[in-house]
Amino acid sequence: MFGGASWINARSLSVWSVGRLLRHGLAACYSLRAMDGELEFMQLALEEGRGAALAGEVPVGAVLVRAGEVIARSGNRTIRDCDPTAHAEIVVLREGARKIGNYRLIGTTLYVTIEPCSMCAGAIIQARVPRVVYGCDDPKGGAVRSCFEILTHPRLNHQVEVTSGVLSNECAALIQAFFAERR
Ligand code: ZN
Repeated sequence: MFGGASWINARSLSVWSVGRLLRHGLAACYSLRAMDGELEFMQLALEEGRGAALAGEVPVGAVLVRAGEVIARSGNRTIRDCDPTAHAEIVVLREGARKIGNYRLIGTTLYVTIEPCSMCAGAIIQARVPRVVYGCDDPKGGAVRSCFEILTHPRLNHQVEVTSGVLSNECAALIQAFFAERR
């Protein structure tokens, strides 16, 4: 179990920062396990992804959370809205900013079922989202680590904490089933 201060630290640690800690010999203090709340938020994102699939959209879902509360949730809406920018992440960033009345989404965590693309990663940086949790990698377009490393690029003045692999099997199965059906 964690004590008070280390509990808070563990909550905000990304898998990658744990990797850095490992190299510095401090890993024994921290856990790689996702927190229960994280699994619930990712389940909500999966629900949004499934809803998008039913609407004929690429099944990606996103949930924006602040202070433990969901402030926006959506699936991809590009076809429905005839809007090439209406990826799930962009939709929740817009709605979240409107709701809190600030284009800087300080104190939020974005949950998304698949590794964000370069457009969404750019928007996450613009919104100053401090933390992103995603499910499965996207080897064909992921801009967190697969194709580009936008969220953690050292030349940018905003760095995002990233946790990947949360419910990754479910997230990957959702998108794979969608594309298998279309082949
Ligand atoms: Zn995107």
